[in-house]
Amino acid sequence: MTVSHVLNEKLMLAYAAGTLPEAFNLVIATHLSLCDESRAMVAAGEAIGGCVLDRCAPIEMGSAALTDTLARIKRGRPEARAKAAEPGLLPEPLRTYVGGDVSHVKWKALGGGVKQAILPVEGDATARLLFIPGGQAVPDHGHNGMELTLVLQGAYADEVDRFARGDLEIADEELEHQPVAEDGEDCICLSATDAPLKFNAVMPRLMQRYFRI
Ligand code: ZN
Repeated sequence: MTVSHVLNEKLMLAYAAGTLPEAFNLVIATHLSLCDESRAMVAAGEAIGGCVLDRCAPIEMGSAALTDTLARIKRGRPEARAKAAEPGLLPEPLRTYVGGDVSHVKWKALGGGVKQAILPVEGDATARLLFIPGGQAVPDHGHNGMELTLVLQGAYADEVDRFARGDLEIADEELEHQPVAEDGEDCICLSATDAPLKFNAVMPRLMQRYFRI
């Protein structure tokens, strides 16, 4: 189990290499715009990658290499625009996915005052914004894969620690937890998962296919 408030090395390398699904790229790029420490880590990783490339013996490229590369540049990757946060609750690149700040989010109720908004990303991993009223708990659950959670407003605590704006929680198959939003302020998080969660209670289990959690 790896849990941290910042990016870990494995994720940083996968992110810099561009091998992560779009949902995870979005969470990490948004985290980078809020976290100087992780931004420095990625810059160092990219510099190392550049040095390695400089020392590699050149090989002949396929005939489609240029076209493919230009197409990838045109499609764009969210991390390419990762930079310090601008005023407002939702930093870039998240803001672009939402189409504005938090007032533009199209929330759907999940019950108990908890709301979610699924974001448009490609690939098998899903990305969503979660709204948890202050003092409210999310149903306790385990994970079938990786879950990245970035706090944007308020704070929550679980079996691991307390997480506030800019903090990233990295959860995997070994972690079972029940995040509880702190009293006093509603908590808004950006979360990405590459597999359905494992809920312990019956009700969330019945609803999870519908809610795509
Ligand atoms: Zn979780």
